Amino acid sequence: MTIPPSGYAEYMRSPEWAARRAGVLARAGNCCEFCGAEPGLDVAGGLQVHHTSYENLGAERLGDLIVLCADCHGDAHDSSRRFSQLRSFALRRFAP
Ligand SMILES: [Zn+2]
Ligand SMILES: [Zn+2]
Repeated sequence: MTIPPSGYAEYMRSPEWAARRAGVLARAGNCCEFCGAEPGLDVAGGLQVHHTSYENLGAERLGDLIVLCADCHGDAHDSSRRFSQLRSFALRRFAP
């Protein structure tokens, strides 16, 4: 099942997403997978799960998601260069 972009907010509230998010956070060992910072979970400015691509929304593969600290996450969305850099980083590191 993949989700159309219009269904994104709803998907973020679904149990499927909660389970996938928990899996990626476990993979990350509670630190930023890009810079290694450990800001903590579920706190303001804490770790966030970022989509490196929305292509497989609803059926994300390992390289489609990366756990980032607030700083890295801000950069990811501020700069399209950083966005694609994170995409190739995640694919290299996590894709089978
Ligand atoms: Zn970071
Ligand atoms: Zn993001």
